[in-house]
Amino acid sequence: MPKVYNWQLGRPMEYPHREAHPKEQFAFVFNINRCIACQTCTMACKSTWTFSKGQEYMWWNNVETKPYGGYPQFWDAKLLELLDGAHQKTGREAAWDAAQRDAKKPYGVYDGMTVFEVARAADRRDAVALGYEPTDQEWRFPNIYEDTATGSQDQRASLNLKPATLPEHETWFFYLQRLCNHCTYPACLAACPRRAIYKRPEDGIVLIDQKRCRGYRKCVAACPYKKPMFRATTRVSEKCIACFPRIEGKDALTEGEPMETRCMAACVGKIRMQGLVEVGADGAWVEQRDHPLYFLIKVEKVALPLYPQFGTEPNGYYIPPRWVPRPYLHQMFGPGVDEAIERYTRPSRELLAVLQLFRASQTMVFRYKLLPGPKVFETTIGGRKWEMYNDTVVGFSRSGKEVARVTVEEPKVVRADKHYNSI
Ligand code: SF4
Ligand code: SF4
Repeated sequence: MPKVYNWQLGRPMEYPHREAHPKEQFAFVFNINRCIACQTCTMACKSTWTFSKGQEYMWWNNVETKPYGGYPQFWDAKLLELLDGAHQKTGREAAWDAAQRDAKKPYGVYDGMTVFEVARAADRRDAVALGYEPTDQEWRFPNIYEDTATGSQDQRASLNLKPATLPEHETWFFYLQRLCNHCTYPACLAACPRRAIYKRPEDGIVLIDQKRCRGYRKCVAACPYKKPMFRATTRVSEKCIACFPRIEGKDALTEGEPMETRCMAACVGKIRMQGLVEVGADGAWVEQRDHPLYFLIKVEKVALPLYPQFGTEPNGYYIPPRWVPRPYLHQMFGPGVDEAIERYTRPSRELLAVLQLFRASQTMVFRYKLLPGPKVFETTIGGRKWEMYNDTVVGFSRSGKEVARVTVEEPKVVRADKHYNSI
C-alpha cells in the first residue's frame, strides 16, 4: 500500500492511493464555545440540497449534543470501540507522543493505527478502512439526546455540600457541529469499488459521481464520520457537495467571488468560518499568515481536527469547549486541546480581532488586516493581566475587495429622539 504524509498525525501513513494534493483546500473552523444548537445551519442545508423524496433522513449538516447525541446514533463511540479493539488485538497502543511536537508536527506524533492501517493489519480483503454500516434505526433521529447532560465527574464530592453552599454545576454537555470534512485522504473515496468518488484538484471538495455510483454503500461503511448516505429512491449514495456552485462564485450576490456554503452563511451563533487554503505539492499548507483559517489553525493552533487519529486528515477544525473534562476532549481532538483552550481563554490581541470576522460576510475571506484601536478594558485572567483593545479587522475577498470591517467592541447605536418607540 502506498505511503502518504499526514501532517495531523506527524508521520507517513498507509493509504490505498498515491499522494496527490489539490491546489486549494476547502476548510472550515467551528467555534464550539459559541454554538446555541438553533439548527439554522441544519435547516439551511436541508432546504437547499436534501428536501426531495428519498432524502428524508439525509442531514448532510447536523448539530449533535455530546456526549450522548450522534447522527447516526453513537457513530463515534462505535468507531472508537472498533479502533480500541483492533489495538488490543495487536497489542499496540493508540497513543500520541506530544513531546515530538514541532512546526511540521503541530500535535506531535500519533503512534497508534488509523482506520486504514487497522484494515491492513487485519488483512481484511473486503475493506480498505475499518468501519461499519449503520442500521436504519441508527439513522432515525438527527438530534436524539439534544441538551442531555452527563452526570457530575465526582458524585460523592458533589453530594457532600456544606450547608448554605450553592452547588457547583458539575454536569456538562456541548454541541458538535458536523458535516463532511472533505478529507485530504478520504476513506469514502478509498473504499469505493466503482471509483465513483473523487477529490477536485481545484478546491479539494470530495464528490460522488451519481452516474458511476451503484449504491454498494462501501463509502457509508468506510467514512469514519458517517457522512455519505444512501438514497433508497435512486439506489445511489449522496453526500455534502460543499455548495460547490457558491464556492465557484456562481451565486450572483458575490459577483464571481467565492462565497461561503449555506450552512456557514446561515449561522446565527456566528460560530462558523469557511474558506479555501493554499496547499503545496507535498500537502503542506502554504504559509499565508494573514489568511484567517491559516492564522487560527497553524499560527494560533486554537482550532483542532475532529478525531485526527482516524487518519483521513479532515479539513474541519474546532475550537474546543472550555468547560468539558479534558480527557473527553483529548480523545476527540488530540493532544493540542490544552494549548488551544489556554489560547482561546486568554486570547491574543490578534486572535480576539480575527474571531470577530466570523459571519461578518457571506463572501469568502482570503486575507485580513488589523487596524489598531484604543485600549478599552483591562482584567486578570488566570492570575495574569489581560488587556482588550478596540481594534478593527478588515476582511478581503479573493480579488482583494474589502468585504468585511468589524471592531472588537460591538458598536453602540443610540436611537434618535424623533424615533420614539411605539410602546
Ligand atoms: S446555526 Fe450556528 S449556532 Fe445555530 S446550531 Fe448551527 S452552528 Fe450552532
Ligand atoms: S468526512 Fe467521510 S464522506 Fe467526507 S470526505 Fe471524509 S471520509 Fe469522505
